[in-house]
Amino acid sequence: MNTIKLYEQDAYQTTFKARVLSCEEVRLNEKIVNKEITNNEITNKRITNKEIANEEIANKVYQVVLDQTSFFPEEGGQSPDRGTMRESGQDAGLVRVLNVQIRKDVIVHTVLGKLEVGQEVWGDVDWKHRFYNMQQHSGEHIFSGLVHSTFGYDNVGFHLSDSGVTMDFNGAMTEEQILQIEGQANEAITKNIEVLVTYPGKAELMEMDYRSKIAIEGQTRIVTIPGYDRCACCAPHVQRTGEIGMLKVVNTQNYKGGVRVSILCGFRALADYQEKLTQVSRISALLSAKPELTADAVEKMKSELTAVKQQLIGAKQSLIIQKIQQMTDSERNVCMFEQDMEAMVMRVAVNTMMETHGGYCGIFVGNDETGYHYIVGTKDGDARELGNLLRERFQAKGGGKPEMIQGSMQASEKDIREVFRSFV
Ligand SMILES: [Zn+2]
Repeated sequence: MNTIKLYEQDAYQTTFKARVLSCEEVRLNEKIVNKEITNNEITNKRITNKEIANEEIANKVYQVVLDQTSFFPEEGGQSPDRGTMRESGQDAGLVRVLNVQIRKDVIVHTVLGKLEVGQEVWGDVDWKHRFYNMQQHSGEHIFSGLVHSTFGYDNVGFHLSDSGVTMDFNGAMTEEQILQIEGQANEAITKNIEVLVTYPGKAELMEMDYRSKIAIEGQTRIVTIPGYDRCACCAPHVQRTGEIGMLKVVNTQNYKGGVRVSILCGFRALADYQEKLTQVSRISALLSAKPELTADAVEKMKSELTAVKQQLIGAKQSLIIQKIQQMTDSERNVCMFEQDMEAMVMRVAVNTMMETHGGYCGIFVGNDETGYHYIVGTKDGDARELGNLLRERFQAKGGGKPEMIQGSMQASEKDIREVFRSFV
């Protein structure tokens, strides 16, 4: 028996009475960790994989079919409603609805707790969650309708989760064009237009121009926002566009030759604004810059940092050259150890050593615990030969040319100095 979809008749009804037609335990070995539960529950963060794996909870998971329901199932790219059920009677406990799926017009509720078959139960849909989804979905219709009428593109991939909405349009739009649609969508919201739901007959449908026109068995539900959109849709919508509050594009990216647009509507847009304002205020205070000038302040700070880094490298180079000048010129096979040094300074050091020293000149940066980065140069030998020895003795990594090698290794300063002393 098909489930009567109360949410199609009244999106604002959240409490309903229904009869339990079936209630079957979901067994752990029947893969309770099935796609239906995990996908939604994990995204909804109401129940985690661990919880599902917990046998105690798993033993209480049932799949319930009612004669009618206000719970909207996962359908058409939209995540399912949340809520609870309870049996009639004073001390009946609440049964949490974990997931809602539709299979050939039969709506299956996955719930945490057993319900008696044949009994009457009350269902309570989480209104805040439902209404937020309604705001997103109606907003999406306006946006997609405007894109369709302005550019002729279709929304070929719609996804409405608890955290956002994405729409994939099969044609490219510029940032300016997307902003223009965003502005028009917000105009539609302020016009507070009535959203109409109709069930036209087959003949009328044939003639009608609407989005998502595919052959659907049974009645087709048409959601119309006069002047903006007409689309076949099964989901709950707001009664008037004003309830959407606002629509904001939060991200766009090129996608399969078209564009993926992410939007937020209503209270979710407000929450996003609050979060972003908090971030900007913190950054503004940290930079001692007005909120609208934070990007400029970061740019300035970045260029100052680059200049300081360059100064630091210059100072390190002077210092290392001074150190090298204090070495005895006639020494062969010299090496230096430093805690921290840029690759550029390391090269300067090796080149400086090679000017006054024969044999192998090496610089090792790091420490005995975490290992060393090294560069070794020579003007009268083959650095790769020393490299082979370092590889043999210390499993050193790296390589290079006869005049210079570089790499990294794990060894002690004492052992490395010993190699330099003894290598001929
Ligand atoms: Zn829709």
